[in-house]
Amino acid sequence: MSIIRVALDVPLSTLFDYFVSEAMQIEIGQRVLVPFGRKQVLGIAMEWAESSDLAAGRIKPLAQVLDDVPPLPQDMLTLLRFCSDYYHFPLGMTALSALPARLRALEPVKFKQALDYALSAAGKALDVATLPKRRVVQLRILQALREAPLSGAQLRSLSPSAPAALKGLMEAGWVEACAPVPRITHTFNDAHALTAEQRRAVDAVTAQNGYGCFLLHGITGSGKTEVYVHLMHEMLQRQGQVLLLVPEINLTPQLENYFRSRFPDVDLVSLHSGLADGERAQNWLKAQSGEARIVLGTRLSVFTPLPKLGLILVDEEHDPSFKQQDGLRYSARDVAIFRANQRGVSIVLGSATPSLESWHNAQSGRYCLLKLTQRAVQPATLPVVRCMDVTKLPLQEGLSEPLLTAIEARLQRKEQSLIFINRRGYSPVLMCSACGWLSECKHCAGKLVLHMKDRSLRCHHCGHQQRVPPACPTCGDVDLKPVGIGTQRLEETLQSRFPEARILRVDRDSTRNKGTWNAMRKQIHDGEADILIGTQMLAKGHDFPNLTLVGVISPDGALYSSDFRASEKLFAQLTQVGGRAGRADKAGEVIVQSAFPNHPLFQALRAHDYESWAKTLLAERTLAGLPPFAFQALLSAESKDEQLVLKFLHQARHCAEQVGSEVEIYGVVPAAMPKRANHHRAQLLVQSDARKTLQLFLRIWKPELDTLSSQKIRWSLDIDPMEY
Ligand code: ADP
Ligand code: ZN
Ligand code: ZN
Repeated sequence: MSIIRVALDVPLSTLFDYFVSEAMQIEIGQRVLVPFGRKQVLGIAMEWAESSDLAAGRIKPLAQVLDDVPPLPQDMLTLLRFCSDYYHFPLGMTALSALPARLRALEPVKFKQALDYALSAAGKALDVATLPKRRVVQLRILQALREAPLSGAQLRSLSPSAPAALKGLMEAGWVEACAPVPRITHTFNDAHALTAEQRRAVDAVTAQNGYGCFLLHGITGSGKTEVYVHLMHEMLQRQGQVLLLVPEINLTPQLENYFRSRFPDVDLVSLHSGLADGERAQNWLKAQSGEARIVLGTRLSVFTPLPKLGLILVDEEHDPSFKQQDGLRYSARDVAIFRANQRGVSIVLGSATPSLESWHNAQSGRYCLLKLTQRAVQPATLPVVRCMDVTKLPLQEGLSEPLLTAIEARLQRKEQSLIFINRRGYSPVLMCSACGWLSECKHCAGKLVLHMKDRSLRCHHCGHQQRVPPACPTCGDVDLKPVGIGTQRLEETLQSRFPEARILRVDRDSTRNKGTWNAMRKQIHDGEADILIGTQMLAKGHDFPNLTLVGVISPDGALYSSDFRASEKLFAQLTQVGGRAGRADKAGEVIVQSAFPNHPLFQALRAHDYESWAKTLLAERTLAGLPPFAFQALLSAESKDEQLVLKFLHQARHCAEQVGSEVEIYGVVPAAMPKRANHHRAQLLVQSDARKTLQLFLRIWKPELDTLSSQKIRWSLDIDPMEY
């Protein structure tokens, strides 16, 4: 009998010991079933143990080894241990949260190893001249199979209807499945000759031997995607797998189609939370088996086993959605960098507006900086950015006359305009003009947002909903007015000003459904909309060639936000949204309405000068001792009972002081959203100018936190927090 240590999905930082009988075949990294309490649960065999702290009589035997899929490879287990250590999150929960749901279930999964297709004896003997000419695709397949057996992906590259044609051929007994043949070549649709800058970027990365982190800073439209494509091509030629991380789940289907069109016979899978459990597990297993050569996914895909990993690409590396906001609060970008280093491969972080963390690392020489300074398509230049001083201009429901005139000009020229709202804080709320009462949520510290369509007030934090009151609840005055601008109100205003215009509102509500969003995108592409109104959803990565005007309404909130990253995010957002304008042969224009038109942010935006803006911000951050010059951990707690929250955090603070570390320990303060769904929320920030000092401190502090009484409260520790 030997003892094996198993990771389980329980909030304890230990592994669990089980006996393994001689007869049991088991490998480290396999999924196992073990008795836990009165239940049987799924775990991952992490390591063999020499001995156990438990008395022999208390160690239970392992119930079953699941050998339906291959074990997790050693490098994955190492990665999971690193994440558990770095994010101070239980190893078992870390390990299990990295698995797709199907692989966490107690039932075995069936992995369909993809097969190749070859002519059968009957197929070889067949005289194709006897087949009717109209069976074009079948004839094409038979023809191709005469040369060599082909994979499913290769067959699909012959024709979109290949699967149906193949079915017919198999039913006729002419084609049969066979063991897959290893492939060493692939088709590459080389669309463009690279620009000199693109060439230099591609060459720098492909010349790298072993680990190297590259920051690809390319202005919008400079052809970063083309650089990724060429790097993928190179890596496929070297028989490696490529992992491409993208921020937004809404973008993956588009990108998937795009990369398929460039590599038509290469096995490509996507991984994101929008896939059905079964499909996600199959895609994951295809990556693990090495069959999938390109893996395209959102942050969770950074935990995919990739035996032949050759390159990692992180597109829009600055995007906040790479950071998970609950459970294991990892940054997929940072984990990807660790992974590249661990596997000795290159990683490319791409962005038009890199995060200050990455930019700082590129400046200090830790990352290698690659620049694309020109737009790839020749006549396309960067849009002209104009700032309108709203303190000097009358506004019509939030819209200035120059902006309205610019929209009108686009309507006449049959071009598209986009009105962009920075979501935070600019939803319409109801106000009493007599006493100043504002519609507030009784469960949260937030305001209720006015929804015109059904005349309701809704809380966007907890979902609370109520009817618009007929009079002010405080003073009884009936003169209740909306303040702030919402997408619905803008739509109404624009519609009454431009009755003929076709207006499309794209916000979280209207795009929750994947089908709706795809339909909207098609509408925009087909020129069936004249004015688009949207939040950040519309800013990201879409290419709408007929869009020539972007209007930015009320971006000022970010300039005096309590979130120190707000202005960094705003610049990134406005650059990205501005990048939507004038991409093809038409010049674009961006009109920003602000009360601070001379703010350095807008100056840099007008000059398309990310570098000087980054320099300004980095100077501010140095002075203030903020990231990237400091490393932070945020302890947050919430409860219905405010006293319990404060007591817990003050105790935690006391423990922190006892550690005797050089870290700075801040005071206990309310969270940015101090109350949500009846839960009071507060937090405690600790920080250090050295990552290592912070980590050493956390290693002592976290176990102390685990021993504090935390009844009736929820708490979490966020390392390198992005939200406060
Ligand atoms: P980015 O991701 O940097 O914003 P894209 O990769 O979307 O830019 O490229 C912008 C446009 O330029 C796309 O339409 C792309 O097809 C085109 N493009 C990219 N590289 C080249 C090139 N070398 N020659 C011609 N067109 C190119
Ligand atoms: Zn009132
Ligand atoms: Zn609420």
